[in-house]
Formats: sequence, C-alpha cells, structure tokens
Amino acid sequence: KVVCVTGASGFIASRLVKLLLQRGYTVKATVRDPNDPKTEFLRALDGAKERLQLFKANLLEDGSFDSAIDGCVGVFHTASPVILSVNDPQAELIDPAVKGTLNVLKSCTKFHSVKRVAVTSSIATLLYNGTPISSDVVVDETWFSNPDICKESKNWYALSKTLAEEAAWRFSKENEIDLVTIHPGFVLGPPLQPNLNFSVEVILNLINGVQVFPSPYRFVDVRDVANAHIQAFEAPTANGRYVLVGRVTQRYEVLKLLREDYPTLQLKESRFEFEEEPQPQPSYQISKERAQSLGINFTPWEISLRDTIESLKEKGFLKF
Ligand code: NDP
Repeated sequence: KVVCVTGASGFIASRLVKLLLQRGYTVKATVRDPNDPKTEFLRALDGAKERLQLFKANLLEDGSFDSAIDGCVGVFHTASPVILSVNDPQAELIDPAVKGTLNVLKSCTKFHSVKRVAVTSSIATLLYNGTPISSDVVVDETWFSNPDICKESKNWYALSKTLAEEAAWRFSKENEIDLVTIHPGFVLGPPLQPNLNFSVEVILNLINGVQVFPSPYRFVDVRDVANAHIQAFEAPTANGRYVLVGRVTQRYEVLKLLREDYPTLQLKESRFEFEEEPQPQPSYQISKERAQSLGINFTPWEISLRDTIESLKEKGFLKF
C-alpha cells in the first residue's frame, strides 16, 4: 500500500505521515527541500527508515509531483500556504493553492495506480456565503463560500481555499478522479514539526498577549484530522466533503482553562481584562454527522489544548 502526502513537513501532514506509517503504509512524501534540517523529524518517525521516501516538489512547478505520485494508490494533498497577512494575495496564496492543487491532480491522471485523492481543504470554503451568524444555524457540507464575499472582506486565505476546492472538483469531474475533500476548523494539538504553524502560533500569541485571534474557535484535534484523511481514503463508500469541528469554543473558555490548569503560566492578564465578563460571540453550529460516519470520535477540545500547551513547553516555546 503506497500513498503520497504533499507538504509532509507541515503540521497536519506530518501527523498524517506518522499515522500512515503506523498503519503499515509506505509513504512517498513531498517537501520543498529534502535537505532542509526541518525535515529531519520525518526521517525519525517510527517506520520511516523502512517505508518513508522524501521527494522534492513545489506547488508552482508543473510536473513537480510526478515521481512522488507514480505508483501510489492514494494521494493526500495537504500542501498550501497558511498565512493571513499577505502583500500579494495572488502570488502568495491563490496561485500556490489553485495552481498547486491542479498540478497535483494532473499528476494523478498520469498514473493509473491512483484510486482516490483526498484534498485538505478548510471550513473556510463553507462559512462565507452571507448567511447571518446565529446559534440556530447549522453549517454542513452543503454550504459553499462565495468567492465574491471572500474578496470583499479581503479574506484572501478563504478565497485561496475556496477557489482551490472549486478547481479540484471541476478537474476531478472532468477527469474521473475519485476525490474527497476534508474541511477542518481550527486545528489544535501537539505539533510534531520543530517550527510553529499558524494555528498553534495563534494559541502561543494569545498566551503571550501578542495578538488576539477573534473567537469563536472551531476547534478540531490534529490527530482526528489525520485519522479522518485516512478514513476518507480507505472507506469504500466515502465521498464528497467532510467538515471537521469537534467543538465551537469561546475565547473566555480557553483563558479559563489556561488559568485553572496552568497557574504558573504567565498570561498577559492586562490584555484580557475584558474577558472577566464572558461575552459569548455569536456562532454557527457545525454538523458532525458526516465526520461521525467516517468513525471520527472527536477528541475533547480541553485535551487538545492541554496537549498543545505541554508540547509548546517541551519544545521551549513556553516556559512555566
Ligand atoms: P503548515 O503551514 O504547517 O503546512 C503547510 C504546508 O504547505 C507546508 O508543508 C509548506 O511547506 C507547504 N507549502 C506551502 N507553500 C508551498 C509551495 N509553494 N510548494 C510546496 N509546498 C508548499 O500548515 P497546516 O498543516 O496547518 O496546513 C495544512 C493544510 O491544512 C493546508 O492546506 C491548510 O489550508 C489546511 N488547513 C489548516 C488548518 C489549521 O488550523 N491548521 C485549518 C483548516 C485547513 P514548507 O514547510 O516548505 O513551508
């Protein structure tokens, strides 16, 4: 069983690689630079010596993924830039997301070995369709973000993911690729990679009082996200889109857990005085039905958050 994972040194992808190796797969993993020391942790994973091969590939280079995809039964395309502030949205976000996805899918059509492709999309491709936010509204996989709304609000990341998903479905229908798309919310959990990825950095910034990312947070654990990718690849009846959110959480709930469980963690309290009077931000509910049909039992957000904090401490990003 040989599969390909793109962007393997990323937060989600490296969890996926670890789980695939644990489950006996041989993994052809792409990274931008196999000689970069930040890919070393991948080679140290259990089973990597025997069953992990690293390939150099870039989203913007045509045919770049061919040798990694050749001979694979499954392809997990997770590589895509995750950045919120950009100078040139087209070059920094939209091109790598859209052209990169098409680049990977084109490679898939060259090799008859490929049976199914799972693309890591985002909840951002569902949420922005103009429906007023209310706790009575349930978001499910029938929701699609409107690119014009993403553009108007300058939500370039959401635009990049929305256009990439649209392109993926169009190309897959035209070329008869069996495609599934995975749509995580805010992904938490212990990073395997040495550097910080965007979502984990949001938590660190909240603790350090550097930046307050607006809640509600639609949390899902990185281990559940990895598992969902594999289930969506393996389950014969899996199809279409899968949204992954374990729990919609307010910022005051996060701060309360941090204060109670980590009394020695120095929260920059003054920044958060307004949190003393909890004001729940309006939020949608997010459907769990299709995720549960894949057998996903969501990890409680408290466990994900605690494991994230412990890992940040272990890696030296937090001292307490
Ligand atoms: P990371 O930043 O950890 O991973 C992104 C990966 O994409 C990295 O491996 C990066 O490579 C790679 N990449 C970026 N640009 C290019 C390029 N031009 N060519 C090749 N590779 C490239 O983020 P996450 O693990 O969090 O995200 C992975 C996927 O999950 C993305 O598709 C993201 O949109 C999606 N997602 C993430 C969520 C989250 O909360 N974290 C929520 C919902 C969806 P390099 O290491 O070389 O920079």
